[in-house]
Amino acid sequence: MMTDEHQPANVPPIKPKILCIDDESSILAALARLLSPDFVVLSATSTDQARELLDHHRDVAIVLTDHSMPGESGVRFLRYVQTAAPDAVRAILSGRVDVESMAEAINTAQVHRVILKPWDNDILRLQMMEALASHGLLREKRELERLSITDPVTQVRNHRYFQDHLKIEVERTMRHDRSLSLVMIDIDHFKSYNDRFGHPAGDTLLRATAKRLLDQVRGLDTVARYGGEEFAILMPDTSFENAMLVAERVRTSFVKDPLAGPDGRPTLVTISLGVASAPRNATESQDLLSKADVALYTAKRQGRNQSVGA
Ligand code: GH3
Ligand code: MG
Ligand code: MG
Repeated sequence: MMTDEHQPANVPPIKPKILCIDDESSILAALARLLSPDFVVLSATSTDQARELLDHHRDVAIVLTDHSMPGESGVRFLRYVQTAAPDAVRAILSGRVDVESMAEAINTAQVHRVILKPWDNDILRLQMMEALASHGLLREKRELERLSITDPVTQVRNHRYFQDHLKIEVERTMRHDRSLSLVMIDIDHFKSYNDRFGHPAGDTLLRATAKRLLDQVRGLDTVARYGGEEFAILMPDTSFENAMLVAERVRTSFVKDPLAGPDGRPTLVTISLGVASAPRNATESQDLLSKADVALYTAKRQGRNQSVGA
């Protein structure tokens, strides 16, 4: 018998979860009977109850909901599922199908599958097997999307994401007459850190730096690895003055609470920062980037471990 370390022979394979919603309990019971050989079946008689279940089971593979229920419609609930459990396949059970509205729900990606009532048991089981395969593909697709915007060393956003996002954010800022700030950050004397402690220790320091930056900013801000030992923080709705305060707070945190060195003990590593804001310093993304870059270069030239504004 074949075994592997993830799946010992004596542990039954973990069943995928399906969430069924219908206001008629006899239908829920029939679905549970039919689907429980293949799934862990979670049943809800209202979308409120379904929301609660989903809160505790973000890993559901399939959501199968009745269309017409008192209160919220099934399609509307699936819109919520789209964000609450984006990898779940969204299926709707309906007695009569309004082709126009169902087509719209399919085209706007709220609904993946439409199943007619009354259903044929064998066909419904097969349809749920199919849905399960689609769930696997949805998960893979999301993971690939995540990888395509993530820096593999530090797990923050990568250069490509940053460039796209910067462009979008500058345009949005100009359109809505807001302010946006960019902080470019470069680790001081990183080459000598690498030389002293080795490249793997350098990578560990990059990870610790990324984490520290994330800890120091708001959830709305974007931290990205721009390249080598350079990072960027993009702060929507943030004035130049506030961005300078953030930059100084970040810089001093590296001094007051040094990152752990290769031996685990605090080791002083400093950073230099360049700050530029739209529309104050630039109204276009590449110009904003170059203004922040020039400011960073000035910070280096003036002796490092400092923040300089454009
Ligand atoms: P400065 O204070 O002027 O910024 O000096 P510095 O030594 O930090 O700057 P320099 O640009 O001379 O060196 C950057 C170093 O970063 C050189 C390169 O080997 C190292 N580096 C770039 N990417 C990585 C990486 O992914 N991992 C590690 N460990 N080192 C990297
Ligand atoms: Mg450097
Ligand atoms: Mg550098």
